[in-house]
This record gives sequence, structure tokens and C-alpha cells, in this order.
Amino acid sequence: DARANARKIIAKAAAGEYSEYGACTRFDELPLSQKTKDALRKARYTEMSEIQRAALPHALCGRDVLGAAKTGSGKTLAFVIPVIEKLYRERWGPEDGVGCIILSPTNDLAGQIWDVFRKVGKFHSFSGGAIVKRTGIKEEKERINSLNIIVCTPGRLVQHFDETPNFDCSNLQMLVLDEADQMLHRDFQFQVDAIISQIPKVRQTLLFSATQTKSIKDLARVSLKNPEYVSVHEQA
Ligand code: ADP
Ligand code: MG
Repeated sequence: DARANARKIIAKAAAGEYSEYGACTRFDELPLSQKTKDALRKARYTEMSEIQRAALPHALCGRDVLGAAKTGSGKTLAFVIPVIEKLYRERWGPEDGVGCIILSPTNDLAGQIWDVFRKVGKFHSFSGGAIVKRTGIKEEKERINSLNIIVCTPGRLVQHFDETPNFDCSNLQMLVLDEADQMLHRDFQFQVDAIISQIPKVRQTLLFSATQTKSIKDLARVSLKNPEYVSVHEQA
């Protein structure tokens, strides 16, 4: 069933049935909270990049997105903004626990992604962080349930599932795989599958990478629900 679904998604992508671009070209034309708009303006983000124009309207509507665009095209904001808006709209607070998980192939990238969350989430109040080896695992175990947004490598998260007795993701709203091609590669297969088996099935899932995922088997593992496929080509 998951595989049939994945096959359909890939066939659609192969036939060039990309989702429509939204009519909006600037961030301030999107239905965003004032706090997010203010932070974007302060960070001097005004015009959206192509992948942002293509992905944000769908992601903000709560749809699953499979996004492909080359490195440097601005994929980070295409998932950071929807994550922040989701938690804001749900009035997420400290007692609600882990709301969104962003998986990254390296600790360095996790740190860079969290920096973008800090910038765009400047005027918001939820907590979060990059869970990387800089902080000790012991101290992390005490802190992890108070984080609303977690950015980390699959290995670090699996360690918490295994070792942190009260670690609770039952409220999770959104899962993001950055560098999705790498995350679905067999290097991370065991860990990513373990994570997916332990988080709620009803959730929004966003996948972003530089190249289009072509493996039906890999896509089936994340079980996207009727995703929008957005792709930006080289001439951009
Ligand atoms: P990718 O993940 O696709 O490789 P990034 O999200 O890391 O790309 O963004 C690359 C660079 O472009 C970053 O320095 C980021 O701040 C900048 N950037 C992203 N979106 C915009 C935008 N809409 N306007 C101006 N700069 C942007
Ligand atoms: Mg990136």
C-alpha cells in the first residue's frame, strides 16, 4: 500500500506533473503570523526564492511536500517557516512537548538549521534546539522533553528513544527530512525507520533535497500522504 502510493508519487514526478507555483512572490504576501513576518523583515528576507514560492503555500496548508532544488536555493526557510507557523497556530507551549522534529545528516547542518529557526522564530516563544554532541547526553535527557522543536541527526534521536525513559513524541505534529536523499540512504536506514515507527502516523511530513528521490522503496518508508511534488530546475 505504501509502495503503491510511493510508485504513484514518482510516476507523477516523472511525468512532470509538478504542483503549481503559488501566485505570491514575497514573504509578506503569505498568510503568516505577524511575529514571523517581522522576523523575516528584520533578517532582510523579502522576495521568496523559487523553491520557497513553490513549497510554502502547500506546506502552510498542512500538506506533505516533496521538494527538490539545488544547493543554495533556500530550502531551509521552506520548512522552517511552516514548522514555526504550525506550532504558533496550535498555540504550542512548553507543556505540549516535542511538536516538530527536523532530521539532518550531520551535527553541523543541524546547528545551521537551528540558527535559522532562531532567526525566524525570534519573536515567538517556543523552545527548541539542535541536539548535537556539544551538549552531554545526560544533560540533554533532562532538557529534551521541554523542547518543542528538535533538530538532530537520526543517531542522536534514536539514542534518546533507547535511553531516555520519559522521552515522549506522542504529540508530534511534523517531521522534516532535510537532505532527504541522504536521510533515506542505507547509512541511515535503520535509524530513520526506528524513528518513523515511534512517532504518530497522523502528522505532516516535509522532505527536501538537492536531487529528486527516485527510489520507491525509500519513499514508501516515510509514507507521505498525497504529497505535493515541487521541483526547481537548473535554469533557475
Ligand atoms: P539550501 O538548503 O537549498 O542549500 P539554504 O536554505 O541553506 O539553501 O539557503 C542558502 C542561502 O540563501 C542562505 O544564506 C540563506 O540565508 C539565503 N536565502 C534563502 N532564502 C532567501 C531569500 N528568500 N532571500 C534572500 N536570501 C535567502
Ligand atoms: Mg539545505
